Amino acid sequence: MTESATGPAAAPVDDAGGMITRSEAGTPLLSCRDLTKTFSVAGGSITAVDSVSLDFPASSVLAVVGESGSGKSTLARMLLRLMPATSGTITFRDQDVTKIKGQELRSYWSEVQAVFQDPFASFNQFFTVGSLLRRSLKLAGVEKEEGDHLIEECLGYVGLTPKEALHKFPHQMSGGQRQRVMVARALMMRPTVLLADEATSMLDASLRVNVLNVLHDLRHELGLTVLFITHDIGQACYLADRVAVMEHGVVVERGSTEEVIFAPQAEYTKRLLADVPDLRGSLKHHA
Ligand code: ADP
Ligand code: MG
Repeated sequence: MTESATGPAAAPVDDAGGMITRSEAGTPLLSCRDLTKTFSVAGGSITAVDSVSLDFPASSVLAVVGESGSGKSTLARMLLRLMPATSGTITFRDQDVTKIKGQELRSYWSEVQAVFQDPFASFNQFFTVGSLLRRSLKLAGVEKEEGDHLIEECLGYVGLTPKEALHKFPHQMSGGQRQRVMVARALMMRPTVLLADEATSMLDASLRVNVLNVLHDLRHELGLTVLFITHDIGQACYLADRVAVMEHGVVVERGSTEEVIFAPQAEYTKRLLADVPDLRGSLKHHA
């Protein structure tokens, strides 16, 4: 594990309710405390995210894993400030960003970028990848010459050449290539945090490893902090330094990847691990 390189140990997260706690290492760049989201639904309300406290140390990869409906995307949307929290706080670089607006929020958005599940959904099929990327930069106010340079640089980070990518239409690429283009697009904003919500879930196994490796390398090359959200504990453990396991909106377990794989405490984690029997043997990526 490499997480000791991230700085002095932060105070451990205070987990209420007897949940399993292990020490957290590194100064958090982004964190949330008691983050909660309650939705009103017919006949009552549902608490999709229930008092979640997490730390994201700089240059680390944290995975949030849980079955469908456990509240992962709701947590992501709150952290991205796309959806207001019912209660709790989000802190970024020691600033409370829970309710920031206007220019402050735009600057937060430039630092915290996201990649979602289905790259097709966010691509306009009538534009080439090149024009899509240039349009994103234009919206961000980047000049053309600087933009072309940035596009080439960011495609490079995800293992694509301009020749391979720019003149193609999205449907002419593989799912893995499209998803790598989405990562490149996020990187063009020079984020410090990349949030990937099921970003590899629709990919075939071979393409998936490819995208996972890109995300892994970015942490080392760019010092990026990655929040990797998935229903698949196998992918979570492949990529992450630390794993938080969510069940029904609650973090029921957290720890280093090794701790979670080799000494799971929560019954729910044990159940998720039982579905990937070869996980312990196939470890791993962290060298
Ligand atoms: P996950 O991403 O882990 O699959 P979600 O965060 O999408 O989980 O959903 C968590 C729970 O919150 C689910 O029960 C879902 O139905 C509910 N939920 C999500 N968004 C809304 C919404 N806008 N209104 C009502 N309920 C919602
Ligand atoms: Mg989801």
